[in-house]
This record gives sequence, structure tokens and C-alpha cells, in this order.
Amino acid sequence: MIDLRGNTVENLEKPIYLDYGATSPMWPEAVAAMLPYFTERFGNPSGVCKAAQDARKGVEEARRKVAQALGGVPAQTVYFTGGGTESDNLALTGFVNAMRAQAPDKPLHIVVGATEHPAVLETARYLERTGVAVSYARCDANGVITPEYLEQAMRPDTVLVSIMYANNEVGTVQPVSELAAVSHTYGAVFHTDAVQAFGHISIDPASEGVDMLSASGHKFGGPKGTGFLYVREGVKLTPILNGGGQERHLRSGTLNVPGIIGMGEAARISAAGMAETVARVAGLRDLLQQLILEKLPDITVRGAGTPRLPGHLSLTVPGVTGENLVLMLNLRGICISAGSACTSGETAPSHVLSAMGLTEKECYGTVRITLGPQTTREEIEETAVAVIEEVTRLRSMNLG
Ligand code: PLP
Repeated sequence: MIDLRGNTVENLEKPIYLDYGATSPMWPEAVAAMLPYFTERFGNPSGVCKAAQDARKGVEEARRKVAQALGGVPAQTVYFTGGGTESDNLALTGFVNAMRAQAPDKPLHIVVGATEHPAVLETARYLERTGVAVSYARCDANGVITPEYLEQAMRPDTVLVSIMYANNEVGTVQPVSELAAVSHTYGAVFHTDAVQAFGHISIDPASEGVDMLSASGHKFGGPKGTGFLYVREGVKLTPILNGGGQERHLRSGTLNVPGIIGMGEAARISAAGMAETVARVAGLRDLLQQLILEKLPDITVRGAGTPRLPGHLSLTVPGVTGENLVLMLNLRGICISAGSACTSGETAPSHVLSAMGLTEKECYGTVRITLGPQTTREEIEETAVAVIEEVTRLRSMNLG
């Protein structure tokens, strides 16, 4: 194998992980912070004994770290959950059920973005089956839901808007403050799924007018199966789980103490190094884009005309099927994905890319490369060489 500068590249011994949008390796400090909570601080934080108090102290410290990473919101506005999917379900279903409890006969309309993750889309469809009217706000060719597009979907009876902070497939960052302002004009509450954004770009829900925000620990160097929902004070939710009333009666179930500790620490680390990491990761992403496009200028970069997450690169490669390119790169030890990991395995073309106006063929020819804080320049240079070689090979074999 020859690299871009004509040097021979050794066989790739160390795998190159470029699928941070799917999940991220944990920060070693976050793992270390968790360990005592499996053994000496194993208590149930709802109890009274010393072990319980230790666990509770750890949980509240983690809550403060998350609140701090959200621009210093009050700690009691952060509710721990079992991940991004649960947070989204709680935000949408919990809000609708609270509205119903207040005024059972009031007609309810909600708006969700056309490019949402299934955690929001499927919840909206579920609510639709229970009698809620749902509209899907369209997006432009970059995946942006403009305030104008949101306006078109709003109605006098709209009670809730849910539009993701940044898209998982393309990385498009939405104009959140403006979308929240439109929602508020109609008296609607604004929820954002920030699963891809939190820990990667700076987020300040209080100044952005965000009423509820979902995030997931494993996307920013925390453990899987952890997440939180920020709920601005004054927003009423009905719990979706019945049980012991933990998390101030919003989320029943014994707290996942080690997980919460790990997520809190990951939130702290991500926030502390944010500016430096954003600049470095975006620089590497831009380098990868440039190296690939220099040799393969017919590739289209999706979402390039608008703010993107620093680590996201979505490429439509004419004459190549994304799945084949993913498989070929995997054989060389490079992990990327064809579209969104949470929906891959489906045969239908990506709803996100379709909403952006891509043809079915373009959807199937699109891959997602996502970088993270641990990504190195060496890995990016090796990946550029591999992408160029494999695309050329697939095209020459007419394999697409
Ligand atoms: N929302 C978005 C935008 C996501 O990308 C994902 C996972 O990829 C989720 C929600 C689901 O989060 P979790 O895996 O924590 O359930």
C-alpha cells in the first residue's frame, strides 16, 4: 500500500476507530472514578447507612458536573436516565401525559424534525396512535430546519416542539436558539435531543431557550446505558415508569450509581477540554475531507454548507455502495459506518438523507466517518489513503 506522499504504509496493526457517532471509548479517568462505586461505595443512594450516603454524595457530585457542563444550570434540573432513548421518551411522552392530566379534552399538536433519531420519531408515532396530532418539520439540503420551516409546521394548538441539537448522520447543527424562540411564540415547550452534541460542542440551554434536553453518556466518553434529561424548572412531566419515585419522582428505579459517576466525570472532562478538542478534531476532519477530495473530486460532502459537529464527515461517493466501502475498510482495520449506526441493518434508505433531498442511490452511496478526541493525524492520513484506494478498487471492479 502506498500513502499520499508515496511512502509504503505498513500493514495496519492497530485498528482505526472512526465511528464516534455510534459510541465512544470511555475516558480512563471516568472508568477510574467509577471503580470504588462497585465495591466500597456500593450503597443504594436512597438508603440511610454510610454506604448509601457515600453513593448519594457521588451521585449529587455527578449531577453538579453535568449541570456545570450545561452552562451552569441548577443541579436539580438534571435527571438521570438509562440513556438517550429513555430521555427522549420521557421528554415527549412525559410532557404529553402531563398536559393530558391537566386538561384531558384539550387537542394536542406536536412538531418534530424530519431528521430526528428514531428515539424521537418512534415516540412521536406512538403518541400519534394515542391521539396526538404530529407534524414533521422539513429541512433544507444541508439538513437544517430553518425557523421558517418550523413556522410552517406550527399550529395554534402546538404544545411541544422536538428538534435535535445536531444530526447523528450528517452532523448538521440546528439553529437551536431561533427554533426555541419560534416555539415559544406559539406557547410551545422546546425539547432538543442533544445526544450527538453534548460533550462535543458547548451547549447552554438556559441562554438558548431550551426547555428540555436529552443526552447519552456513551457518546462523550461515559458508560453505555447512562443518560440524562435536563428539564427547566416549571416544565411539568408525568413519569413514564411507575415505581419507587427516585429522581424526585420523575424516574423510578434504583440509580445506576457507577454509571452516573462515570458519566459525570466524562461530562467534566469533555467540558474542560472543549475549545481545544473542537479545534483539533475539526482540523483533522477538514484534513481528511481535503485529502479525499483532492483525489476523488466527484465525492459530495453532506452538510458542508452549514455548521457541523467537529467530528462528522458524511460523504456521498458516486459509483460505490456505502455498505461495500464500510466492509472493505473494515478488512483494513478501519471502522466507519454507512449512515447511522442506530438504524443500520435496515434496508430502507436513510430518512435523514432522503429528507435532505438525496436520491435513493445517493443515500446508499453515503458513508459516515466520525472522529473523536482520541483521533490522531496519523490515523486520518492512513484513512484517506485507504478510502481512496478502496473507492478506486470498487469502481474498477464495477462493484459499486
Ligand atoms: N438520539 C440520537 C441523536 C442518537 O444518535 C442516539 C444514538 O445513536 C440516540 C438518541 C439514542 O441514545 P442511546 O444509545 O443512549 O439510547
